[in-house]
Amino acid sequence: MKDNADSRPFAPGAETVLTHGGRDPSAQHGFVNTPVYRGSTVIFETLADAEDARIRYRYGRQGTPLTDGFEAIVTQLEGAAGTVLTPSGVSAISLSLLTCLSVGDEVLITDSVYEPTRIFADTVLKRMGVTVRYFDPRIGAGISSLLSDATRVVFLESPGSLTFEIQDLPAISAALEDRDITIIIDNSWATPLFYTPLALGADIVVHSATKMFVGHSDVMMGTASANDRHMDALRATHRTLGLIASPDDTYLATRGMRTLGVRMREHERRALDLAAWLNEDSRVTVLHPALPDHPDHAIFKRDFTGSGCLFSFVLPPAPREAVAALVDHMALFGMGYSWGGFESLILPSRPARIRTAVPWTDQGNLFRVHVGFEDFNDLKSDLASGLDRYFSTAGM
Ligand SMILES: *Cc1c(COP(=O)(O)O)cnc(C)c1O
Repeated sequence: MKDNADSRPFAPGAETVLTHGGRDPSAQHGFVNTPVYRGSTVIFETLADAEDARIRYRYGRQGTPLTDGFEAIVTQLEGAAGTVLTPSGVSAISLSLLTCLSVGDEVLITDSVYEPTRIFADTVLKRMGVTVRYFDPRIGAGISSLLSDATRVVFLESPGSLTFEIQDLPAISAALEDRDITIIIDNSWATPLFYTPLALGADIVVHSATKMFVGHSDVMMGTASANDRHMDALRATHRTLGLIASPDDTYLATRGMRTLGVRMREHERRALDLAAWLNEDSRVTVLHPALPDHPDHAIFKRDFTGSGCLFSFVLPPAPREAVAALVDHMALFGMGYSWGGFESLILPSRPARIRTAVPWTDQGNLFRVHVGFEDFNDLKSDLASGLDRYFSTAGM
């Protein structure tokens, strides 16, 4: 981004960063977008150049002008010291944990965490000799009772992307004050447009860029951004592990970023409308932190400036046939993993199977909904028919 012609200090708003950040047409013959640099080898002119560590581009694994541009956008939005790109959200999560943990250390993880994060911790981290403990997502300042001398990392995901508990990051951060403990948080749901956890005490923010940043269900990518204290270690571990995002995927992710602002606001409005409509049905329990009756609504309102495209609802207990009757015959809502694209999705899930710290006691059937950009009345009638099929199959 260029400075103002008169060089007045200029702090661009988030949507200006999204549209103008990380690109320099004057360096690309005037073309608006930075092209894909598809490369491994970089040719040095002289031996002196080959030995000059200050030369930015030395080998494909160390990034290109395009990856630098995308990283710059995320860095600026998150208020971070820097960002690295990884081939998936899960690799951004594993990278961040591996950056901070060694044998004998302990990590505390919210019980509401994305299941593959839990699987990484329970397999690779445990095998490395790291103690893994899960905690009540609503623990807040109570986390101090779980800390030991070995605790090195607290891992949050707010809200949990299946059950939508909000974690009280400022209270958790205050409880860790003066201890050498790193807070890592998965911010995929809110994006930095609606939540900037580094400003509230987190140290490293990870994203499944696959979801909102890419926005079109066609790329896998992750990002990890850190504050000053952790950026060097994060970047060094990223290089050592060789986690490089593909240039073509980085191009698509950068393109997705340009419209993130309008997409987030539109997703927010639609998800809230659909959630509020479902909430009117007394048989339906809606899990959406922006609804005033959500148990964490006060924390949500205090810390977030908006809400995402994804929420869940729980229907009264009924046999599997009722779940199948709902999801097998949707006209528009697709059944599949991931979210953040233009198309609506619905996914049944059973949190009770996953939880270990706080048992999930609701016996009902949970459905996670991603609200896309189809005609809103079409979406409503699709879901209304699905609910009718559920209740009639269940004999309710
Ligand atoms: C999908 C997801 C991830 C993992 O991202 P991938 O890009 O699929 O590896 C991490 N966290 C959350 C909250 C997600 O929804």
